[in-house]
Amino acid sequence: MTFAGELLTRGSFREIRKALDDRKISALQLCEESLRRLQMGQAQINGFITLLENEARVQARLADEKIQTGETHPLLGIPIAIKDNILIKGTPTTAGSKMLENFIAPFDSHVAQRLRQQGAVFVCKTNMDEFAMGSSNENSFFGSVKNPWNLKCVPGGSSGGSAAVLAARMVPLALGSDTGGSIRQPAAFCGIPGLKPTYGRVSRWGLISYASSLDQIGPMATDIEGLSALLDAISDFDPKDSTSSISSSKQNLFEEFRKNENETSLEGLRIGIPIEFFNQSGLDPQVSAMVRHEIEFLESRGAERVEISLPSLKYSVAVYYLIATAEASSNLSRYDGIHLGVRDGQLEKLEDIYSQSRSQGFGPEVKLRILLGTFALSKGSYENYFKKAAQVRRIISDDFSQAFEKCDLILGPTSPFEAFELGGRGQSNPIEMYLADVFTLGPNLAGLPAMSVNIGYSDINLPLGMQIIGPKFSEKKMIFLSQVLEKLKPQHSRVSPFCKIWEGS
Ligand code: GLN
Repeated sequence: MTFAGELLTRGSFREIRKALDDRKISALQLCEESLRRLQMGQAQINGFITLLENEARVQARLADEKIQTGETHPLLGIPIAIKDNILIKGTPTTAGSKMLENFIAPFDSHVAQRLRQQGAVFVCKTNMDEFAMGSSNENSFFGSVKNPWNLKCVPGGSSGGSAAVLAARMVPLALGSDTGGSIRQPAAFCGIPGLKPTYGRVSRWGLISYASSLDQIGPMATDIEGLSALLDAISDFDPKDSTSSISSSKQNLFEEFRKNENETSLEGLRIGIPIEFFNQSGLDPQVSAMVRHEIEFLESRGAERVEISLPSLKYSVAVYYLIATAEASSNLSRYDGIHLGVRDGQLEKLEDIYSQSRSQGFGPEVKLRILLGTFALSKGSYENYFKKAAQVRRIISDDFSQAFEKCDLILGPTSPFEAFELGGRGQSNPIEMYLADVFTLGPNLAGLPAMSVNIGYSDINLPLGMQIIGPKFSEKKMIFLSQVLEKLKPQHSRVSPFCKIWEGS
């Protein structure tokens, strides 16, 4: 294997950064290896929708010029995969939909602008569930993504492409988006860390909207140091996003990571364990046992365990699927064949254009959700459904605030189960799939940061994730906890079986 290959397969973010700074490898060599792997693994993984070959080479050469002059920055010259609902100027951006099959982004999203300024190299746009609606990546117009831990299994969704290209060690960093768990759940299924930031920390400018009051772009990576560098790079106050927070850029998480690197004590950290998380029906006993085991381990390192209650957990699936679909039905009204979207040039009547564009452009899950959301907002239903959901959302948020009076962070499973087989869930009843999100929805409804970290492997060698939820803007604490775990449990950072393909290539 080449040095670039070694670095991508086994190198930590620190090692990759150092190799670039010491000029043991060029950004272009790293970029070529990343592109080669993406291409070579595509038939099996289907992780990307567009490969950005030319753009990536231009960015890599630019990064090399800067490195030559002694310039350094955490992301300079590092290959990164970007979920295909995030706009990169001049490149196709489909959101996993036929509706946007031919759409070329006319401008850079705010996060792309930031990453460009900081010298990251965009290698591909990753596959995803259509308009970020899904928990398995089986809803993409461009076909399902496969999990590098077992190609018969889903990688999770909707940022499944980003999680899969990381687990296949094709890139060290990726961006996902999370409306109800779409970063954390695929991170858990693919054995990598992923973080959904506090609502307002990262600008949504240039993110294709699903449900605007819940959507956040966030970092996914092969290790916590990479994750913290990427989170820093994208955290920024942006006046173009009216919900962007002024507190966004006030922490330096990467510096903090390096400062804490020899710290292994969790003395003084109060970890809240919600009883409802472990009484949840459908929770796989193996997942429950592993998370409990991890909590005991944290106690042995000095953390104080506090029993807490989130009684409104039972409402979160209903509340989320009303609010998210209502917002989606409004956000997706712009795809009408006139402003945006596919259009057959033969039609003349406005109504025919609308109906043809929307019936051909959207896939079945998106149509189902538009119907649900339109119903929830319609006269009569608005009071009975949408308004009530908005009220219960407030109760969910209050439950978290009360819990955080007793603890610093809340821990529990990310998903009730490990990655399941393609076609194995929600085929006859979509609600079965929606229940996969039971633990991840609350933080989005309450605007809180939450992340998933790998805590081991099931009896069939599939990764299992633990979720860490914190109060608003507590990412620093969450990263510290995950950093300690990563250091003390290196056995939880295995490389997926798919990576065998790189040996001898
Ligand atoms: N699985 C959830 C849904 O389908 C969450 C998706 C997301 O976070 N984008 O809505």
